[in-house]
Amino acid sequence: MISRRTFVIAGAAGLAAASEIAAQKAAVARDDCVFCRIVAGTAPAHKLWEDKHFLAFLDHRPIMPGHLLIVPKDHHSYLFDMSRRDYDAILDRLHRLEPPLRNVMQAKRIGVLIEGFGVDHVHVHMIPITEKGQINRPGRADVTDEEFRAVAEKIRTRFKADLR
Ligand SMILES: [Zn+2]
Repeated sequence: MISRRTFVIAGAAGLAAASEIAAQKAAVARDDCVFCRIVAGTAPAHKLWEDKHFLAFLDHRPIMPGHLLIVPKDHHSYLFDMSRRDYDAILDRLHRLEPPLRNVMQAKRIGVLIEGFGVDHVHVHMIPITEKGQINRPGRADVTDEEFRAVAEKIRTRFKADLR
């Protein structure tokens, strides 16, 4: 009897440990994920703003100038697999970043795009647009580093002033 009970308890503990490890894996930074590396500072990006849970940086192939990505700092693969709380938190950050981004880029609207096949880490595109159809243009690969630096500095300064 004693040995059987011991076995059952050990089995239950083993299951708990396995599910805990799975949960940790979902949130831990991955070396093979470029957005995790940007969050960790081991891959380059023009970072614009961050808080405890999210980071915003320029898309390296902008559809329009000021096109940024906002990502959760934890690794999540798919937006709709995130908890409702984390999902709401992303929308809250979009809401906060939209006015200063639209303002500083003198855009009529901020277009939002979520697709996620390019990099397997949840990211939301925020794209300053002034007319219909702009959001469907292909991203530009020929932006110079100087142009990136200038637009990053402009947005960073505005975010710093407007976001507390
Ligand atoms: Zn990642």
